[in-house]
Amino acid sequence: MRGIVEEARAAQRDWAPDARRRATALEAVADALERARAEIIATAVEETALTPEELAPEFARMVGTLRMFAGVLREGSWVRATVDGALAQGAIGPGHDCRSMLAPLDGVVAVFGASNFPLAYGVCGGDTASAWAAGCPVVVKEHPAHPKTGRLIAEAARAALVSVGQPAGLLGYVENADAKDLGPARELVTHSFVKAVGFTGSTTGGMALDALARSRRHPIPVFAEMGSMNLVMVLRHAFEARREQIADDLAASLLSRHGQQCTKPGMVLVAGRENGPWLFEALAARIAGAPRRRMLSPAVAASYWRRLDEALASGAITRHTPVPTAAERGDVTPPVILEGDVQKMSMLGSAIYDEIFGPALIVVPTWALEGGYFLRNGMLAATLIADERDFIGMEHAVEVMTEGEDEIDWSHFDDAHIASAGEIARYLATRSGRMVFNGVPTGVRVCGGMVHGGPYPATNAAGTTAVGPRAMERWCRPVCWQNWPELVLPAALRRANPLGIMRQVNGAWTREPG
Ligand code: NAP
Repeated sequence: MRGIVEEARAAQRDWAPDARRRATALEAVADALERARAEIIATAVEETALTPEELAPEFARMVGTLRMFAGVLREGSWVRATVDGALAQGAIGPGHDCRSMLAPLDGVVAVFGASNFPLAYGVCGGDTASAWAAGCPVVVKEHPAHPKTGRLIAEAARAALVSVGQPAGLLGYVENADAKDLGPARELVTHSFVKAVGFTGSTTGGMALDALARSRRHPIPVFAEMGSMNLVMVLRHAFEARREQIADDLAASLLSRHGQQCTKPGMVLVAGRENGPWLFEALAARIAGAPRRRMLSPAVAASYWRRLDEALASGAITRHTPVPTAAERGDVTPPVILEGDVQKMSMLGSAIYDEIFGPALIVVPTWALEGGYFLRNGMLAATLIADERDFIGMEHAVEVMTEGEDEIDWSHFDDAHIASAGEIARYLATRSGRMVFNGVPTGVRVCGGMVHGGPYPATNAAGTTAVGPRAMERWCRPVCWQNWPELVLPAALRRANPLGIMRQVNGAWTREPG
């Protein structure tokens, strides 16, 4: 382990200062992975029970993300160069010349991928690509659920780095085929050369690594992308206008990758008590013919059964589609639709709102905006399904929602309270990284406008995104150069702006000198 991290650390010296070199290397890795595409996909199919059709778009996302970061590096403005000259208006205090930009962390980024996206969140997934782009070498901890896939990708990527004159050590790979052995993870996170951790996985795992990183003599940040109960709210007019389509879309989103997606819809709040039973039956009919599938790993299957049992034992579930008995259970699982009682759920602690990772969905019929309760936890994605007519009404909803949890007077509620999609949207924005309108939460687009994050338990760092160009910023910190001579300044901060990048100069965005 020590040798791997030290080799990675040594590789940073020439890597960090040269963005073009990094862009070329990222593209070389993408090219090499594409050449090994068939073998990588076949190996991932063998190890994960995901199908080639599911892995093909994920493969495209992996190589596409590497290329996206190469483009961001070539354009250059991502460093957020900010210049305030001695005479800048509005500055307070001494008349210094202050120039700041993002600089990579001085050390190695440790990456932990997730079992459900062996490519897009794997060895050369978004965390590795963004850390490389920022200027950091990476050491990946093997995921015990897909070691062969991980090793194959690592081998191809290391060879590609060497082919363009880069040290293979820019990508360290720590083997860990035994899931019970937490030693490699601990050793990696506590190594003094490791300066940040990128984690994608369960809330338990993410928070355990976060605690470990904080307990170091020199604590380091952990950016943990975890799981959440993603809420979908269906309002009355939308339901009445297109309920069949809504049921089709929700069922397809739930069944995609057998519910093993962090963005899977977890709970559907449907306005109108009479509409809940219809939606329950409609979803139950749609999943009835869906195949039972093997989960990603025995551990993921065990966690699915455990979370289903917890929900069933909560006392808030009024009915559900068949759930196998303990004796019938294994790694192959069925999709399950549950119906929750809104009032009982509102009285329960937050555990009912924790992610059930797998193909389970709770339908909750409601007659009003008890939805305040459903916004207790943070979410990666919150979805509102509404029509224009749903944007009218609900004058008192805000006061009702912000009252103490035990003091709500249920008689306040009537249909009008659920009717204002605008108010609901504002609340959803306080709880989620991404708000979907008239769609489904699955299907993440890799682009500048994306936010893949959100308040706890979606992540432990709500100020960041794990997808899109800004994911690089997790591996950087801003540095101010005060009164330094032109000769010594980084190119992005020089007066002539030789890189031609977009900068904020004395408060205005420009590519002009400054
Ligand atoms: P996981 O069990 O937490 O595993 C992730 C990695 O962390 C594995 O390498 C695992 O190794 C390690 N790990 C877990 N607990 C640890 C601990 N206490 N100490 C040291 N290492 C530990 O998660 P998963 O089953 O692979 O992935 C499924 C979860 O990921 C779901 O909750 C899903 O929602 C989430 N996810 C989130 C996103 C997102 O972007 N937010 C994307 C995809 C998936 P071991 O197996 O050896 O423990």
